[in-house]
Amino acid sequence: MVAQWIWLHVSDTGNNPRWTLFFFAQQHGNEPAGKDALLYMLQYLSKNPGLLPPNIELWIMPMINPDGAVQNKQRNAADADLNRAHLLLEQPETWVLHQIYKKIKPHVAVDCHEFSRDSEGYSRKGWLEWPEIMMDCANNPLLHPGIYQSGKRW
Ligand SMILES: [Zn+2]
Repeated sequence: MVAQWIWLHVSDTGNNPRWTLFFFAQQHGNEPAGKDALLYMLQYLSKNPGLLPPNIELWIMPMINPDGAVQNKQRNAADADLNRAHLLLEQPETWVLHQIYKKIKPHVAVDCHEFSRDSEGYSRKGWLEWPEIMMDCANNPLLHPGIYQSGKRW
């Protein structure tokens, strides 16, 4: 299968946004919840356009790994874990994602994943309750400390 991507731009800022936010999801094809959440957010914003602050633009790529999604598997058609393929950019999916990232230069990027509530890994760690939304932003050394602290607070 040849991968096809959709990316969307939502803005009421003209060409002068104060903040650029980039949401993307489903790097892992068997994790559709992030894509569903982003599409729901778009639908909700289309019905309530006043909710988007005038100085914010959104860029949304709801499905990074369509080949994995069609087969309901984590990896892409080349059997690569895209979430581990951002350094060499040998996979077309991550190459496209980085091209978009370079084009829009977001202030904040949100990579949506899905975690099982009955994960054995979580149980082994002694975690008894799992958050509805997990924000993990500690893996980028260039991240502004204020954003990291906000992620920890949420
Ligand atoms: Zn994932």
